[in-house]
Amino acid sequence: MYNKVGSAVLEELRQIVGADNVIDDGEAFDSYAHDETVGLRADPEAVVRITSTEDVSAVLRLAQRERIPVTPRGGGYGLSGGAVPVHGGIVLAMEKMNRILEIDQKNLMVTVEPGVFTGDIHRAVEAEGLFYPPDPASQDSCTIGGNLAEGAGGPRAVKYGVTKDYVCGLEAVLPSGEVIQCGGKLVKNVTGYNLTQLLVGSEGTLAVITKIILRLLPQPKVQVDLLVPYDDFQAAADTVSDIISHRIVPSTIEFMEQDSILAVEKLLGRELPYRDAAAQLLIQLDGNRREAVDADFEVVGDLCLEHGARDVLVARDRPTRDRLWEARRLIIDALNHECPINHMEDVVVPRAEIPPLLKGIKAIAAREGVRIICFGHVGDGNVHVNVLKDDLSDERWEALVPALSEAIYALSLSLGGTITGEHGVGATRRGYLPMAMGEAQIEVMRRIRAAFDPNQILNPGKILP
Ligand SMILES: Cc1cc2nc3c(=O)[nH]c(=O)nc-3n(C[C@H](O)[C@H](O)[C@H](O)COP(=O)(O)OP(=O)(O)OC[C@H]3O[C@@H](n4cnc5c(N)ncnc54)[C@H](O)[C@@H]3O)c2cc1C
Repeated sequence: MYNKVGSAVLEELRQIVGADNVIDDGEAFDSYAHDETVGLRADPEAVVRITSTEDVSAVLRLAQRERIPVTPRGGGYGLSGGAVPVHGGIVLAMEKMNRILEIDQKNLMVTVEPGVFTGDIHRAVEAEGLFYPPDPASQDSCTIGGNLAEGAGGPRAVKYGVTKDYVCGLEAVLPSGEVIQCGGKLVKNVTGYNLTQLLVGSEGTLAVITKIILRLLPQPKVQVDLLVPYDDFQAAADTVSDIISHRIVPSTIEFMEQDSILAVEKLLGRELPYRDAAAQLLIQLDGNRREAVDADFEVVGDLCLEHGARDVLVARDRPTRDRLWEARRLIIDALNHECPINHMEDVVVPRAEIPPLLKGIKAIAAREGVRIICFGHVGDGNVHVNVLKDDLSDERWEALVPALSEAIYALSLSLGGTITGEHGVGATRRGYLPMAMGEAQIEVMRRIRAAFDPNQILNPGKILP
């Protein structure tokens, strides 16, 4: 179906982007052959480091003419294989398009190139008293282009929503090489179909995003973080829905079960607070008035204690808050360190269904005799479910992973949830899409894709079964 990258195409690529920006050497492919998805890799035939929209356009025209697959790549920190070139071809590396073009104080907007690390956007706007809320835990390694393509979330989604809620406009290059401008520095815009939001979450299958306009907020003046340990795993889960039903919306409610904390301890080589607690919640409250934040903090603290919390540790200043968050940010790295062969799911349910979800997952683990560690953004209903191979045989593991994925998806769907909240379908979940939606819906998606990319050169092998 696709052609290979031959020497003539390589030469044309060098003419478009300069010889320094074309990698055609097998050994150098290594870092572009995988993302952070455990156990998935595929070599590209060429890597092209892009520096401008015009380059993207010229490369796509060439790839279209030659029927060569093209896989856009941001930070390569995805967890569903989105940036892995499963059909070979060209990897379009966006890492050099990494400028923050403008922070517009009058319109509260920032315009960026797609290769900027998300954490750099946070720091740049915060230095001007502004706030870009979406905060994936990978923020210092993932790019804003990857965040748009995946529709990334993060802990602050409970109160502030996710990436899609901040994208007002973008520039993108279609697989034909044509450049489109969607939206703008506009708070309102109902002119035609909303292609801006169609491209958000399209996982690099419809167009390559080359410029992004994001809405900003004023930075909240007051923040309080609470670390709350529980002796009973289920009591921590029950607290979450109780907080929300009391009509208090913290900016984050993160959940970490004991094994995830112990894994971080092993990675860091030192003990962490409340290491013997069965689970911990990490709750952040923010606002502009200290009295209002403190009033919510009192209610939340009391609710936690009513549900059997052992303690409520409070952090008001930045260094203490950073210490409380250290373990949470390191969990994925720590689990990979603890057991390099593991499998992560990313289910999401209506937030009131968190208690039955966690209970059901524990029942699946007990039934199958495997170690499953849960952590994540329970305040917005999103749980990361990590299955560890430990000393299971390779044969048992190979058979177990698909069966477990199916059981976890079935559980989430039965609770009104779905199969991925923020990590995307990518290469790893596409076979399960029919569990989550009907054939008519999948067929509409196929037709949308065909309208953008009739020859399917852009990121084939992703999303659609
Ligand atoms: C330790 C760790 C913590 C994480 N925490 C979170 C979290 O809290 N929340 C969350 O949502 N995710 C999280 N993730 C997952 C991941 O970081 C996000 O999915 C992130 O958005 C990926 O961005 P990236 O730049 O690394 O994209 P990549 O992995 O490079 O690519 C992801 C997808 O985007 C496409 N793409 C990249 N750039 C473009 C572009 N310019 N135009 C079109 N398509 C493009 C690629 O083709 C691919 O399909 C975490 C991952 C790790 C390893």
